Amino acid sequence: MLETFKVLIVDLFFILLISLCTEMIIDKQNFSKNKKALLYTIAYGLAIIINMIFNVRIDNSFQMDLRHTVFVMAGLYGGIRCMIPLLGFIVMYIGILYPYEAWANLIAVSVETIAVIFLSKYYHDWRLRKKLALLGLATILNGLFVMKSVQYFFDFTTGYDYLIIAFYGGSIILLVTMLEWVRNSIAINRRIQRAEKLELVSHLAASISHEVRNPLTVTRGFLQLLESEEFPIEKRKEFFQLAKSELDRAEGIIRDYLTFAKPYPHKTEILNLEHEINHILEIINPLANMNSVTILTQIRNGHIMGEAQLFHQCILNIIKNAIEAMETNGGSMKIETNILEDMVELSVSDTGTGMTKEQMDRLGEPYFSTRGKNGTGLGMMVVYSIVHSMNGKIQVRSLLGHGTTFVLQFPRIGKAEIPSVS
Ligand code: ADP
Ligand code: MG
Repeated sequence: MLETFKVLIVDLFFILLISLCTEMIIDKQNFSKNKKALLYTIAYGLAIIINMIFNVRIDNSFQMDLRHTVFVMAGLYGGIRCMIPLLGFIVMYIGILYPYEAWANLIAVSVETIAVIFLSKYYHDWRLRKKLALLGLATILNGLFVMKSVQYFFDFTTGYDYLIIAFYGGSIILLVTMLEWVRNSIAINRRIQRAEKLELVSHLAASISHEVRNPLTVTRGFLQLLESEEFPIEKRKEFFQLAKSELDRAEGIIRDYLTFAKPYPHKTEILNLEHEINHILEIINPLANMNSVTILTQIRNGHIMGEAQLFHQCILNIIKNAIEAMETNGGSMKIETNILEDMVELSVSDTGTGMTKEQMDRLGEPYFSTRGKNGTGLGMMVVYSIVHSMNGKIQVRSLLGHGTTFVLQFPRIGKAEIPSVS
């Protein structure tokens, strides 16, 4: 008996490990739907193989493992598409090794597939308790049914059948609880990231409209001058050109802002640091001007891997904090990049209020803000989560009353890995 449970616990452990790792990989990589289905199929397929390797053969005729549990989980969390290949795989494997069990398995996995197809329409809308109750109950009822059939047709019992059924019920409850927990925290993290971006976008809007007003006013002035007849044609042409370039400037400011504000499809790509930082500067310049903050830059170009919009959001949050730390007295901010052997380093330093040791320790904690009603306390949390998702690191140095420096490091993409554009 102990041997049986030892094997089943090993099986359960592997399923847990594989399913949780899969969720985390999928969260990090932003795969397309097809790739996701493929990854789920491979992951749950692996879990099934491990289960079949670590199985218990009882009385030389019954194979016991958690493959059916994995199969149902694969359907509910990986989707129907990943169930079909797994169904074929289970039946083939059993069919080759134990042909006399193939039919029973085929019937079992077919019933499970139909049940999952029917269930999956509603399943993800249910609350956790309902999911657990239904899956636990279904597993136990199914266990009782199998037990009674085996007792009836083969006149066989392990002597601890009920314990095994309870184990099966418990395993699915544990698996679903853990999986839901991980999926939920991933979803919450995403939602905060999105909400925080909205906050940033609406905050920037004020400075953008302010910044756009300047070129418009200048253009208006030139148009007025054009109206009067007193200037020679050459001069009027010049006014006309100036008015046009001012309008282009206004258009440029709005365009940069909109490319950031618009939700973009998530896509991980090679980012050209100089290009991205210049883009970020275009967006943030109006806010810096409004707060009398000058921005100095010293950029060495390098390449990193990431999603452009998330990278912008991350750096904008840091820069916005720096500007806010200088909003009462103005000041200067320095943005610098350095290329190290296998890292790219980006630092943002300001001459603002600085932070105490306690404040620095609390950076990144949700809702930690010293800015009262004006702060959400989510900016740095999002920064940490984006940097983490790009396999980067953050260091903070700060001196109260003198200023703060954020140093970010990201893995560097070498020249050889950058596809050349012909
Ligand atoms: P919020 O900006 O909404 O307050 P953040 O998460 O962006 O929230 O920042 C949290 C806190 O960290 C800020 O309230 C501020 O006290 C501190 N902080 C962040 N960056 C700086 C900085 N460059 N200089 C001084 N304090 C900072
Ligand atoms: Mg902030």
